[in-house]
Amino acid sequence: MTEYELIIGLETHIQLNTNTKIFCGCKADSWEQPPNTNICPVCTGLPGVLPVLNEEVVKKGALLAAAMHSDIRLTSHFDRKNYFYPDLPKGYQISQFDMALGKGGHLDLPMPDGSMRKVTITKLHLEEDAGKTKYEHGQRYVDFNRCGVPLVEMVTGPDLRSADEAAQYLIRLRQLLRWLGVSEANMEKGHLRCDANVSIRLMGETILNPKTEIKNVNSIESVRTAINKEFERQVEVVEGGGRVEAWTLDWDEAANRLTKMRSKETEADYRYFREPDLLPLELTEEWREDVLSGLPELPLERRTRFMADYSLPEYDADILTSDRPLSEYFEAAVSAYKGDPKVVSNWMMNEILRMLNDLCLSADELVLAPEHLAAVIKMVDAGTINNATGKSLLVKVQQSGKTPETIVKEEGLAQVSDDSALLAVIDHLIADNPDEVSSYRGGKEGLFGWFMGQVMRETRGKADPQLTRELLQKALKGG
Ligand code: ZN
Ligand code: MN
Repeated sequence: MTEYELIIGLETHIQLNTNTKIFCGCKADSWEQPPNTNICPVCTGLPGVLPVLNEEVVKKGALLAAAMHSDIRLTSHFDRKNYFYPDLPKGYQISQFDMALGKGGHLDLPMPDGSMRKVTITKLHLEEDAGKTKYEHGQRYVDFNRCGVPLVEMVTGPDLRSADEAAQYLIRLRQLLRWLGVSEANMEKGHLRCDANVSIRLMGETILNPKTEIKNVNSIESVRTAINKEFERQVEVVEGGGRVEAWTLDWDEAANRLTKMRSKETEADYRYFREPDLLPLELTEEWREDVLSGLPELPLERRTRFMADYSLPEYDADILTSDRPLSEYFEAAVSAYKGDPKVVSNWMMNEILRMLNDLCLSADELVLAPEHLAAVIKMVDAGTINNATGKSLLVKVQQSGKTPETIVKEEGLAQVSDDSALLAVIDHLIADNPDEVSSYRGGKEGLFGWFMGQVMRETRGKADPQLTRELLQKALKGG
């Protein structure tokens, strides 16, 4: 059995979350608006109108470029990419070809073995989106709402080696986009779209074979499935003595399969030329410095710092930096708690993440503030409340907006860790259940859990479990 290697490059289109479109005043996000209601003469390319570049698009594009370690060009140009398609009313797309906003760049990808894979960026430019066509009731409809929506197109080198690495790239990219606040990066809504270039070669070879391009993969799961299917298909072609041809393939989500769209066009087919209606984009050194100084600590940097500063395992650091509000919540809770950060991490990874998941909220939207979490953990540490009460207390704080201390006082949740009070409950229990007591003493040790449960029920969950266990064992042994 011959061993083949997968070679993958990804081309992504990222919708920037600006208020307005790239060259006109129409709203940038028209998701779920009736077709053709968010358009104007500029974005539909009527004769005699001129595009005006939106500075917010340049700012967000430049911030993304900086985070991708790409050089921001002080002078870049817009070009016309000419092609005919019903969803492109102008007959060309305004894009950037050779002198784009960003030059080079890379994204670091943490590998399962702890190493970093450097995924190079070969293109990073601004462009406008096209409209959409839709096939319905046997007719084809065109919706221009999306024409002129600001995009950053980003293309990687052929640096990814498995469908899983491709998925990881998208996960890290999505994380970065949300972290920077430049895109909602929702794949279902088309804020982040991905085409995959796929080829194979024999293990150990260094040449690049003809590749196919898979279009329309709109979820991370589809990226994995589509690439793996295309890998199998190419292996079959080569094993059968054939050659892989440079096709464009369409991923059909519903049917879970790839179909051939067309033989791939080359760049020359687009007859790129400079956009005559726009001046070159000139930025000052000062403007660029301003963008670079506005760059926040990036997710992977924060992940490394969490491991170093708080002695967290990589696993914890990875999850706690999966989004920016969560990582900020953690740091605020650690500084309020002042104890072992790993203890805070454990509560976050279990209780807080579950709550966020259940309520579909992000950490900065919680009523339960980091200081509340710290206070609850301190009460558990001090033995004022037991672990189970601590967990339900978090939920009560979130629901009521009251402080943990107030709720503990109002509901009398403080743990019963007073020997005499617990002994009274245990004595009653033993007196009331002679049958269970004699079975237990006769060797049915499984009944111990039942006794524990009865004490907890009697104290409404407030009994100190450790103390209850000791007292109960002593009491059951005696007699
Ligand atoms: Zn418009
Ligand atoms: Mn493009």
